[in-house]
Parts: sequence; structure tokens; C-alpha cells
Amino acid sequence: ETVGQLLDRIAATHPDRPALVVRGQSVRRTYGQFHAEVERVAAALLALGLARGERIGIWAPNRAEWVVLQFAAPMAGLVLVNINPAYRLHELEFALNKVACRALVLPRRFKTSRYLEMLLELAPELALAAPGALASVRVPSLREVILLDDEPAPGTRRWSELAALASADALSRMREQAASLAFDDPANIQFTSGTTGAPKGATLTHHNIVNNGYFVGESMRLTEQDRLCIPVPFYHCFGMVLGNLACVTHGACMVIPGEGFDALTTLETVAAERCTGLHGVPTMFIAELDHPQFREFDLSSLRTGIMAGSPCPIEVMRRVVNEMHMSEVTIAYGMTETSPVSFQTVPEDPLERRVASVGRVHPHVEVKLVNEQGEIVPCGETGELCTRGYSVMLGYWEDPARTTEAVDPAGWMHTGDLAVIDDEGYCTIVGRLKDMIIRGGENVYPREIEEFLYTHPKVQEVQVFGVPDAKFGEQVCAWVHLREGATATEAEIQDFCRRHLAYYKVPHYVRFVTSFPMTVTGKVQKFLMREAMARELG
Ligand code: ATP
Ligand code: MG
Repeated sequence: ETVGQLLDRIAATHPDRPALVVRGQSVRRTYGQFHAEVERVAAALLALGLARGERIGIWAPNRAEWVVLQFAAPMAGLVLVNINPAYRLHELEFALNKVACRALVLPRRFKTSRYLEMLLELAPELALAAPGALASVRVPSLREVILLDDEPAPGTRRWSELAALASADALSRMREQAASLAFDDPANIQFTSGTTGAPKGATLTHHNIVNNGYFVGESMRLTEQDRLCIPVPFYHCFGMVLGNLACVTHGACMVIPGEGFDALTTLETVAAERCTGLHGVPTMFIAELDHPQFREFDLSSLRTGIMAGSPCPIEVMRRVVNEMHMSEVTIAYGMTETSPVSFQTVPEDPLERRVASVGRVHPHVEVKLVNEQGEIVPCGETGELCTRGYSVMLGYWEDPARTTEAVDPAGWMHTGDLAVIDDEGYCTIVGRLKDMIIRGGENVYPREIEEFLYTHPKVQEVQVFGVPDAKFGEQVCAWVHLREGATATEAEIQDFCRRHLAYYKVPHYVRFVTSFPMTVTGKVQKFLMREAMARELG
């Protein structure tokens, strides 16, 4: 099934069920209304002269138009390019040129960021061009700029003008084009989070993302009765696949609290919309649980949701189950390159399993763990996780060298993650190959030390990583964010570890911080922390 065929089918089955609620924009759409809007935008994009296979970028926070374009672009045979709302000029230029974007959709501004002004800096020709006739020196592929506000700007079109282009004729041409698409055509280019370095553009097909969304929704037992609160960004697979596509494949309602993540707005949305599910990365759940007004909200409608994106501390899981009523909360593991999910817990899994593992492998995905020599390791031993199946990307966009590095000739995706799988098939992510610390020949897994430090009553959040060391190769370093009002010394944290952990795991350096460098998906960028420590230590 293509993305367009999926929406046609669901909207025909449940035309009057709620599809989309966007609280910040006061938008409410049934599946029938949403489908009609998607079709109009798809027809308009073709009427603008965009051709099958061409790339259309969206550089915007979570808004209704994002969801509409997510379905309209692939329905029209275009490739949707998700552009991180946090990107600035340099990164935008890189992304647009990397995939030769023909069109770009953006709001005039988002919070304090002046998107249109930034774009004009990149493409000053826009100010003089007629809409659709941009000839930019720095982004030669770009022709069309579509603004998400009503205020007009030279050279651009407004999103609200698109509907008028969707004549009966344009609609029937679009439907013809939609019917000619293949399920393994590229539908979407997503950039990875950039946790370990520069983001990579993964090309995903209709088949990749529609099916992954479906299996994610199955693991959550979603039905058309569900209302899923999605505060995670759409530009990332967490929002668009685990959120939006999991809902649409099951006829459930997508509930969007606002443009960026805010703990209070998320809590308000869950309570006011009686949401049955809530997604988040661990830091988002921590922010919600620790919010001073947390107790004021009735969250009893919650049943499920996904915690993913990075290691999920056991304490946070327990609180999500006990204090947020999310008894069926599931943990998922995946990566952009595999559409993304390959492991997920199901509600039947006992809580201990759900807190200690990322569950079992998804249907139709094969998995193996290998050592440095590429040999399969025995059950219960640590190895690099490799996955194979329908969900593996087509490749990094026009980057065959990096694609062959990641996906071997037999089709195995080498994830770069270290994992252990027990004899019942439950998988535990031990950490990233790149984050593993080798101290004087001993392998140290930061996650183990982090889990332990979370049991310290003064610790709110902690990140452990390796820093270069002349004598030991690497030394263990911990950055600690203390709870409000708490104070502690380096020696106190080290003593705490020394009593329970082997000497080589005790952090040699402890630094107290109030925040960590993060991607907008809420992932801690340890490579930046390593760089900061390297500067400090000279
Ligand atoms: P980049 O590849 O650009 O460095 P990234 O790998 O963080 O960034 P994503 O594709 O967004 O980009 O994230 C996938 C990674 O996130 C996985 O490879 C894994 O390291 C981590 N991850 C995802 N889910 C989990 C989880 N449940 N537990 C532990 N780690 C997870
Ligand atoms: Mg990655």
C-alpha cells in the first residue's frame, strides 16, 4: 500500500471519526475532512508543476499543515523531506542541496527564529522572483517557496492559496498519478538525529513507513477509539511514524499539543482531550512528572504510549506506569534507517521485562548480534545489533559509500548499537558502539553507570561518557544534573559509586551541570560533551 492508498482506505472506512486535533491552531478534522484536504493539497502541488520523484522540504514545527503535507506529498508521488526546525542557515543550505529540493514549505517565523529572513539570506533572489520562478545561486534546485502564514511575501505562495489550484481536472490528474505509484517508490527522506555527528539523509519508501506505522500501532493495540497525544517532533520518525502513521493505519486520532515541546501544554492537552496515549523521549516524561502542576491534571484516560529514542531509565518507567496511569506503556527501539522501529514491548510483557528490555523483535524483521569479526555471538552475550527486512531503508540519499558502510550486501543494517538478547528473545540495548568506553582494556558501558547513579537521591539526570586519557586510553566522566536545591561534591558521587561498582567504572571526573547538549529530538549529544571535556582538560 502507498501512503495515499492507506489514507484513501481509512477515510473511506471511518469518514466521521476524528483524525486530527491541533490545539494551538484550533484545528479539528474528521478522517473525511482530512482526506479531502490532503487530496486538494496533493493536486495543487502537481498543478504547480512539481513532478513525480521531486523533493519537497518542510521546515516547520508541529502544525496541522505538517500532517497534511506528510500525506499529500507522497500521495502526489513527491518525496517529502523532513527538515529539522532547529536548523539554521548553514544546515538548511546543506539539507536542501543534499537532496536537491524543488520546493520548500515554511512558516514566516517560529518562536524567535525568523525562517523567512533566513531563507532570504540564503536565496536573496526570492525577493525579486515571481512565485514559482525562483532561480537561486546557493540552492539551484529550489523553485517554489510556500509560506504557512496568511501575510504575503514576494516570490512566495501562501499555503492557503493552494486549495484554489485543486480544480476538478487537477484532482483527477492527481488521482491518476497516485494510482500509478509503486509501494517501493521513495516517499520520504528523514535525517538522522545527529547524535553521533552530522545527520544522514535516509531514503524511505511508502512500504517502509506505512508498514512500520502499522506494526507500531499493533503493538500498542490502537483502534479507532484511541486518541494519541504527540508532543514529539514530526520531522523525526518518532512523530511522523510512531505518532501520525501509527494512528492513521488504525483510524485513531492524532492530538497535537503545540508547535514545540512544553510539559505543561502536554499535560493540559492529555487532560482536556481525554487522550488514551502519550509519546515521549525519557527527558519529556521526566519534565512532565516533575512539573510543579503535575498533580492538578486528570490523566486517568491514559492507557498507552511509547517511550523511546534513548535509554529509558527504570525509575522513569515506573513513575509513568504508576503516576501517569500508562499501564500499557511500551518501549520501542529503532533508528531512522529502519523506518524506524525494530523492537517493541507489548502490553502482555510483564513490567520487569518492559523496564529492563526493549521487548522482542517486530514481525517481519530478522535480527542478529555480531562481534568485531562479524560472527554471531551466543545468546546472552553482547554484540552489535543487525537487522534485516522490509523496514530497512532504500539507502542514504545519493550516498552509496555510506549506504554500503551501513547496509551490507546481504541486506543487514548494522545499527551501531550494542545489545544483548536473552533466550526468550528479549533485547536489551547496552549502548552505542561509539559511546562504549575502553578504559585500560576494560569495556565500560555508560548506561550501567548511569542506571546506578539514578538511584542516588540527589541526582535528577546523569550522562556518562569517555574522555581521552594518556595512561588508560579513556577515563570515565559523569555529568550530573542535581535535583532542585541539592548540592553534592565530586568526591561524594565517586564514593557512592566506589561502594557498588568495580573501580574502573567509577567516574574519574564528575561535573555538575544544569543542562546537556541535546538534539531537538531530546537526545543527549555525548560527542559534544566529550569535546567540551577535551577543551577543559586541554
Ligand atoms: P545519528 O545516527 O545521526 O548519530 P541517531 O542515531 O541518534 O543519530 P536516530 O535514528 O534518531 O538518530 O536514533 C536511533 C538511535 O537511537 C539508535 O541507533 C539507538 O542508539 C538510539 N535508541 C533508539 N531507541 C532506543 C531505546 N529504546 N533504547 C536505547 N537507545 C535507543
Ligand atoms: Mg544513528
